[in-house]
Amino acid sequence: MHVRLTKSFRFEAAHALPTFPEGHKCRRLHGHSFRFDVVVEGDVDPAKGYLIDYGDIKQAAEPLVKRLDHYHLNDIEGLNNPTSENLAKWIWDRLKPTLPLLSAIIVHETCTSVCEYRG
Ligand SMILES: [Zn+2]
Repeated sequence: MHVRLTKSFRFEAAHALPTFPEGHKCRRLHGHSFRFDVVVEGDVDPAKGYLIDYGDIKQAAEPLVKRLDHYHLNDIEGLNNPTSENLAKWIWDRLKPTLPLLSAIIVHETCTSVCEYRG
């Protein structure tokens, strides 16, 4: 049985997007209530009946939430241009080594603006 599991994380942060056109609102310092979804995918162990403990996903992702929550994202190493796209890759690059089943990072910058990265 092949399944895909998703666990969601939230953090509040500020950013400014320096590559947007002069005068664009996204160039100004502003904040979001970000959410990102960690998606893992694989085959269920028939003896166990599950793919992975959701708690293991949380353990892997929590250090990243701590590094992002209530920070100015532009100040974080590797996030000098913190678009949703770059943020999704930043999270992916740090999670993949400890979470080999990782299949997507989905960053919700707002309720209606979402970026999915699949490595
Ligand atoms: Zn923004």
